[in-house]
Amino acid sequence: MFTDIYSPLQQLKHFSENQIFVKRDDLIDPYISGNKWRKLKYILAAASEQQKNHLVTFGGAYSNHLVATAAACSRKGLKCTAFVRGEKIACVNNEMLLLCKLYGMKLIFTDRLSYKHKASLFEKYFSEDSNAFFVDEGGASAEAVKGCAEIIAELPNDIDHLFCAAGTGTTAAGLLSGIYQHGLKTTLHVIPVLKGGDFIADEILKYTGRNDQLVLHTNFHFGGYAKTTPVLIDFIKKFTAAEGMLIDPVYTAKMFYAIDSLYTDRYFKPTDKIVALHTGGLLGLLGMKDRFNEI
Ligand SMILES: *Cc1c(COP(=O)(O)O)cnc(C)c1O
Repeated sequence: MFTDIYSPLQQLKHFSENQIFVKRDDLIDPYISGNKWRKLKYILAAASEQQKNHLVTFGGAYSNHLVATAAACSRKGLKCTAFVRGEKIACVNNEMLLLCKLYGMKLIFTDRLSYKHKASLFEKYFSEDSNAFFVDEGGASAEAVKGCAEIIAELPNDIDHLFCAAGTGTTAAGLLSGIYQHGLKTTLHVIPVLKGGDFIADEILKYTGRNDQLVLHTNFHFGGYAKTTPVLIDFIKKFTAAEGMLIDPVYTAKMFYAIDSLYTDRYFKPTDKIVALHTGGLLGLLGMKDRFNEI
């Protein structure tokens, strides 16, 4: 399951002067998609090394990480439990949690205050379970960084600009460490999808120890995490129809919008080679059906 993967590099059709390619990690798996697959690879290996067969993790009610973890655990024959942020009543009709349940994940709904204390929750519920293995929200960990760093080895080594969207910054940290490991001249451009995304630089630095080839673009959050505007929704529609490639409103649409906007502002040289990492997360569209009603 974590050996052969399908993640081709495809050129976008409608940006013509610059060569813009997309690393299609969204095609790795519909449910263990994109960076969540990359992150889980070594987390599952660590659990198995420590002979733990019960993953315990954390996420919001529309978390791609929860679905990915549930699917990966079922395929590996592992038990899994998730602490879900929020009240059960607000989540009953949620498509993402339905998938989690189908894959056999046990859900523990947790109010926002207790949810903040992840280590205490784990301790409270699973101190007696010697098989329980703690996996942080979004899979953030050194193992996840290692998995994401492997993406660099699958890319050409003459890329000028590599783009990714960031929530916790773990994926970005992996990409940047891969760039340094291979001694590439590539600049990593990171689009935080939340407001005040400057903290991402420090998150990345914790793992990489340097960030001289990093550029953060903090003004493409569209109001904050999971927030959208009609402009972004319109962009998703146009992009998807033109490229035949789905993008999600929470992460990848903000990244592609940023690239489009930098391109329009002539940020790139015509000869620059640009790659965008499609981190997947397309199920995120399901929670946002209503925002597409107007168009
Ligand atoms: C989770 C997720 C991200 C954010 O990854 P981080 O490592 O937390 O920065 C980006 N894109 C998609 C599609 C995701 O599901």
